[in-house]
Amino acid sequence: MAEQRKLVEVRDLKMYFPINTGILRRHTGDVKAVDGVSFDIYEGETLGIVGESGCGKSTCGRAVLRLYDITAGTIKIDGVEIGAKGQSALRKMRPTMQMVFQDPQACLNPRMTVAAIIGEPLDEHTDWSKAKKLERIYELMDAVGLNRSFANRYPHAFSGGQRQRIGIARALALNPKFIICDEPIAALDVSIQAQVVNLLEDLQDSLGLTYMFISHDLSMVRHIADRVAVMYLGKIVELAPRDALYATPRHPYTEALLSAVPDPDPKVEARVQRIILKGDVPSPSNPPKGCNFSTRCPKVMDICRQIDPEYRELAPGHFTACHLYNDAGETGAPRYECNQQGEDA
Ligand code: SF4
Repeated sequence: MAEQRKLVEVRDLKMYFPINTGILRRHTGDVKAVDGVSFDIYEGETLGIVGESGCGKSTCGRAVLRLYDITAGTIKIDGVEIGAKGQSALRKMRPTMQMVFQDPQACLNPRMTVAAIIGEPLDEHTDWSKAKKLERIYELMDAVGLNRSFANRYPHAFSGGQRQRIGIARALALNPKFIICDEPIAALDVSIQAQVVNLLEDLQDSLGLTYMFISHDLSMVRHIADRVAVMYLGKIVELAPRDALYATPRHPYTEALLSAVPDPDPKVEARVQRIILKGDVPSPSNPPKGCNFSTRCPKVMDICRQIDPEYRELAPGHFTACHLYNDAGETGAPRYECNQQGEDA
């Protein structure tokens, strides 16, 4: 990890989507997609965000870039608070922060050539001459490994991996500092995934980029991330340096997620005890009282159904929100005796 300067500071971020019902479309509730998350991302590092689909990780990424009007909280990018900024002020910030989307097929305009797609941000944010823009487009194509002779082709002529390279080139056009990669490899063949991840890593090294890498693939996140945040039902339940999180997960949800990751070593794999979570993820419009995970947690206790656990630091840089560690301090020893049998929702 590079120097410890915070490039991104998010505090108590909430993104609620209103539920309106009845003939009068009265506001009767909210889908709490992101419900009070706080984290920092240091310059030059990759923060991985993991969790099951529907846990709010993609919404969190879009909210951080202010693709939504957030419900509450603050977002500071490179020292500038953007949580409450209007669209014109945000437009000026766009060159600093960009996004690489999951489905390159869906986010590339099929009627535009590769050069037009990659050059679109330059049209929007610069008054460069045509020649200067073309020079930059070629430079970006070189950087992501696309042959310059493809500049006048259309997206349908490319494979999924090449389309994602086009998306990455476009994201890089304005020299951003911070890029959110939202499941950037999920739509690609397994054989192509590593190539795209390696490209992202090379670009990070050469351009000093900072990433928020959103993925459900824990093995890939382990490969690319410096620190990892685990989300469940709109909240971060654990955040830690990568090695600490994978070696000594503290939160029961993280333990369950990691137990499902296959180990390449057959001897280790044979010893792994899978933790099977029962029940479905509750609706974010009606989360359980107390701990969000209490309806599925194998270690649930009475207090869990009453009080939302505090998010606290158990060891340097290792945070979790779980009553098992209420008075744990550095050792992480559980204070409450837990029901190891677990209970169903
Ligand atoms: Fe499980 Fe209770 Fe910890 Fe929630 S607070 S994760 S229910 S032990």
